[in-house]
Amino acid sequence: MNKNISKIFKKEIPTLIVVFAVFLFSFCYAVFGTGEEREESDKIKIVTTTTMLCDMVKNIAGDKAEVTGLMGSGVDPHLYQAGAGDVTIMENSDVVIYNGLHLEGKMGDIFKDLNSMGKTVICASGGVDKSKLIETEASSAVYDPHIWFDVSVWKEAAVYVGKSLCTADPKNSGYYEENLRNYIKELESLESYIDDKLKELPKEKRILVTAHDAFGYFGKAYGFQVKGLQGISTDAQTGTKDISLMAKFIADNKIKAVFAENSLPKATINALYEAVKNKGFETNIGGQLYSDSLGDKENGGETYIKAFKSNVDTIVRELS
Ligand SMILES: [Zn+2]
Repeated sequence: MNKNISKIFKKEIPTLIVVFAVFLFSFCYAVFGTGEEREESDKIKIVTTTTMLCDMVKNIAGDKAEVTGLMGSGVDPHLYQAGAGDVTIMENSDVVIYNGLHLEGKMGDIFKDLNSMGKTVICASGGVDKSKLIETEASSAVYDPHIWFDVSVWKEAAVYVGKSLCTADPKNSGYYEENLRNYIKELESLESYIDDKLKELPKEKRILVTAHDAFGYFGKAYGFQVKGLQGISTDAQTGTKDISLMAKFIADNKIKAVFAENSLPKATINALYEAVKNKGFETNIGGQLYSDSLGDKENGGETYIKAFKSNVDTIVRELS
């Protein structure tokens, strides 16, 4: 009997060695991790709200941070409600970055709570000179939040975010500063591109009609009269009176095209198109502009710079 046991045991020794080795390896891996993973855990965790901010922060933070964007492509930030999962992601992060000026209208209390928890919460619009902000018609104390539509204003927000990251993660500040300088240069090239492209569109044709009032900064910076079917926020229904008045304006001014937006349903702009037709004028739906969200890799508008160029190209092509 004992002989049999010893025989079986001898036969199984190689298997036992393999099992033990696998166990030992798994144990060491779980406890110590690989060198690469150790480095990964050193990275600060940054959470951003909008796709525009996510893109900006990825450019500045490079590979020294893990950047998570809460809102996906095509998501409307005015109406976005953070789920329990989003709150957990923000609570587990080191830095939270949001646009502010009530863009993330349903998330204000969350940022306040995170702030009082001692988390680094950066409001990107807080770095913009107040004189550059556009006051809304409703109140002089309420500003238009769509600051990314004027590249010079967005550059100020980028500088502020970059400097805030240096404070939050000082050991990588030199790296962030260099990335920021490079990104600002890229944004300056974008400004040159916009100026050159807009030379193709005469001043009298610069009337931009869109689904909501997102383009105020764009209009002010680049010389457009802008009109939105809905107000500064999308958190209100468009009345038929608005559509009728706008249709009359388009027909009277013979505006060649009106534009849908990627973060809003097409229904209101389609209704406008029909209303203009009823006034005896035919306008076009001149394609879709990236408004409160960037695109994705499929449609090619996945970065702020690409989306902005696409908007300018679309506007010039359709209104010329
Ligand atoms: Zn908006």
